Amino acid sequence: MTKLRVHSYETFATQDWPGIRLVIFLQWCQFRCLYCQNPDTLPIQLWEDWKEMTAEDILALAVKEKEYFGDNGGITFSGWEPLLQAKDLKDVLKLLQKNGFHTCIDTNWGIRNDDVAECIQLANHILPDIKQINSQKHKNLTWNDNQLSLSFIKKLDDMQKNYRIRYVVVPELTDTEQDIKKLGEFLQTLPNLQRIELLPYHNLWISKREKLGIKYPLEWTHASTSTELDQVKSRLTEYTDKVFIRG
Ligand code: SF4
Repeated sequence: MTKLRVHSYETFATQDWPGIRLVIFLQWCQFRCLYCQNPDTLPIQLWEDWKEMTAEDILALAVKEKEYFGDNGGITFSGWEPLLQAKDLKDVLKLLQKNGFHTCIDTNWGIRNDDVAECIQLANHILPDIKQINSQKHKNLTWNDNQLSLSFIKKLDDMQKNYRIRYVVVPELTDTEQDIKKLGEFLQTLPNLQRIELLPYHNLWISKREKLGIKYPLEWTHASTSTELDQVKSRLTEYTDKVFIRG
């Protein structure tokens, strides 16, 4: 039986594109981002904190929320990294699609296999992240390479899929002039990109980390200010007019 390992879910979400969404947060992630707001799901010894949901459980939840979805809302699978469960996720997507629901996947795009490819075909919308455009800096930030993520985004664009990129602006970690220039040049190779959303970095999760005894690795930077976000937007706008700041 198809079962997803779900950490939690949120109803009436408005930031997970498009329209009003039911967001299902799937457990586990292969990245180890220094700024992760959910470090409680990263150490393997804490991975027990999840529940199983069948495809039918998720469909029942979606049916309950349906009246709020309107014309373009639906269900977004987010995480952590939903495509780590692509083998089961594809069956859930098929069932939702069969029942007339629109779906979206929010992903860091660090995995490649046939199930992932099928999930991408099935979902109506995709929200890929770029964590860092510079490959060495990406490794330092996430403990993973960015080549898979970037090549997947190119593929999305070739497929003319509906997609928006998300980019977290962390002062001095992801907003240097060279990083933004390289990012802008990459965006110029994506004619079908709908938009890039700049997300502010905030450090509200410090106390969560402290409680878990996980060291806070970014003492040397600070929450991004609106001026810093505006500066990144302005620099990126030299390359594309599809830049938006998300609140
Ligand atoms: S991709 Fe997301 S969930 Fe995974 S480590 Fe990075 S911030 Fe955390």
